[in-house]
Order: sequence, then structure tokens, then C-alpha cells
Amino acid sequence: MTEKTNCIFCRIARGEITSSKLYEDETSFAILDTNPIRPGHTLLIPKKHAASLADISADEQANWLKPLKKLCAAIVEGTGSEGFNLILNDGRCAGQVVPHLHLHIIPRQTNDQVDFNWAPQPYPPDQLKKTFQQISSRL
Ligand code: 5GP
Ligand code: ZN
Repeated sequence: MTEKTNCIFCRIARGEITSSKLYEDETSFAILDTNPIRPGHTLLIPKKHAASLADISADEQANWLKPLKKLCAAIVEGTGSEGFNLILNDGRCAGQVVPHLHLHIIPRQTNDQVDFNWAPQPYPPDQLKKTFQQISSRL
């Protein structure tokens, strides 16, 4: 049994599990999330099994995300929403439950009561400079 055999999104891609498939091309597909934060909550998924963004190439990433713009517009217009959030949970620590890369598209409306519980804080002294250097030195 490989990871791909049991993976829920690979099984959906192979048609072994039913889904509300909104979109499909050679490299990616989009389905309605069965437990939506809001109606229209959609998952854009690469067909290739990969747990993390680190596991696909830049070209595979580009192909996966090609339908994103059109999909977001259809979701916003179709659900009568005003905007959307894009969320990628990469790693269990980040809340990833299904270990097959996917991007959440969540349509949003003013006062829709969705709360991601963010608690932004200013950087402590010198931390911004240090963090900037740690990241920029790797790019
Ligand atoms: P994660 O927490 O891994 O970023 O999100 C996984 C998402 O997949 C969840 O929002 C969950 O509701 C959704 N999900 C899990 N199993 C299925 C399924 O069988 N079909 C569909 N359409 N969505 C699923
Ligand atoms: Zn998979």
C-alpha cells in the first residue's frame, strides 16, 4: 500500500470517491469541501500526490494554480460573495489534516462571522531585522 493508494484526494482524483468536482484539467482539479467554512468553500488540488509545496516543482506549482483566478471569480460571483480567503495549510503544525497539497478558497462576505483567530503582534526590538535577514538570505 502506497501513500497514493489510501490518500483521500488521490482516491477522489481517480474517481473512487464521489465529489462535487467543479473543475478538472490534466494537472489539477477543484472540489467543494464537504465541511465548508462557508458555502462555496472549494479545494484546488494538484493531481500528483505531494504532501507539501516543497515536494512539487515550480512548473508543477504554476500548472496547479493556473485555474485559480477563474475559479475564485466563479466562486465569488456564484455565491454572491464580496471577496475570498486563500489558505494553504502546509504541515500538521499549520493545521494540515489531509497530507495531499490543496489550496482552500473561502468566499467571504462582510460580517459573515468567519473568524480565523489571528492575533497580530508588533515585532519585539531587533526581531524584524533578524527575521528579514534569515529569510532574505535564502532567496
Ligand atoms: P486541511 O486541514 O488538510 O487543510 O483541510 C482538509 C479539508 O479537506 C477539510 O476542509 C475537509 O473538510 C476536506 N475534506 C476531507 N475529506 C474530504 C472529502 O472526502 N471530500 C471533500 N470534498 N472534502 C474533504
Ligand atoms: Zn494524494
